[in-house]
Amino acid sequence: NLPPRLKREFHVCDDNDKNAGPVIRVMQWNILAQALCHGSDNFVVCPKEALHWENRNLRVIEELLQYSPQILCLQEVDKFEFVKENLGKVGYEGIFFPKPDSPCLDFEHHTGPDGCAIIYAVDKIKLISQKCIVLKDDGYETNQVCVICTFGIIGNDHTPNFTVAVTHLKAKTGFEELRFSQGSYLLRYLEKKVESGPVIVCGDFNADPKEKVYAAFKASVLGLQSSYTYLSKTKSEPDYTTWKFRGSRRSQNGREESCKTIDYIWHSKHFRPKAILEIPTGEDLGENKLPSMAFPSDHLSLVCDLQLTS
Ligand code: NDP
Ligand code: CA
Repeated sequence: NLPPRLKREFHVCDDNDKNAGPVIRVMQWNILAQALCHGSDNFVVCPKEALHWENRNLRVIEELLQYSPQILCLQEVDKFEFVKENLGKVGYEGIFFPKPDSPCLDFEHHTGPDGCAIIYAVDKIKLISQKCIVLKDDGYETNQVCVICTFGIIGNDHTPNFTVAVTHLKAKTGFEELRFSQGSYLLRYLEKKVESGPVIVCGDFNADPKEKVYAAFKASVLGLQSSYTYLSKTKSEPDYTTWKFRGSRRSQNGREESCKTIDYIWHSKHFRPKAILEIPTGEDLGENKLPSMAFPSDHLSLVCDLQLTS
């Protein structure tokens, strides 16, 4: 009884270069923690049944698998065992790291803490090393985490190994400085780890492109570029990666609209975007936007084909 899935097409990036390096498809997605969507998220116009796990679980797995990414970078995972079991059946393995004090645990029917995960296709990608860290602010651990993996591409012994990091920075207005501090900590960590090697950083940064943390990523010595800017001729970010309505006593109609770009796939200059999954129009999302029966999270997935340049 589920409606058709949200339909999205790939934008093929026009480039004339003859580079024939291997291409990896990367997904970035905040899948929406099940414990939070019933509680603190307060999605007021979203149909209640779209938030029920029995309606969401299939939609989440469909979204993770329908574009066949080789690497999946996820946030708000509070059902890792479920994801691991289902993706394990079709050739994926993964690493999960929970937040130290997940807000999910405040809800009666929680199924454990939420956290970040990296999942990869074992027939294409080989795991070289993994590291899970808690992001620090001024020397102190915060409640935000990062999973960092170094991978190789199977059957491509001449291409360099590359590093993938996934994070979920502190949410909400008023925490711009903390996000900047967490992002800067992660950048320093990666600069030491990868030196001048290939790196991809995926995340829900909870920061629009005007925030300091975005500028810090853009200016990093890692030479990072945001993949989704390759969707537009002007190299600007999309208008939104999340679009939702939350209940609010401050507004007259009792709800607050949140439509912004806060999710990113950053890649170093060793990669070139070849194809990017387009952002659906507001009309495609429907009147109530996200989440919906057609799409199970308030964040859109970002999917990009990245080619390693030789
Ligand atoms: P965050 O503030 O980073 O956010 C938690 C979740 O809330 C995110 O997944 C976020 O989603 C969602 N969110 C964002 N905006 C709103 C909004 N306007 N209304 C409702 N939900 C929103 O979490 P923290 O890790 O800092 O944890 C916060 C909670 O954890 C506290 O309220 C407390 O219950 C508990 N806690 C935290 C401590 C800490 O050290 N931080 C210490 C003790 C308890 P998205 O990313 O999609 O925007
Ligand atoms: Ca959320």
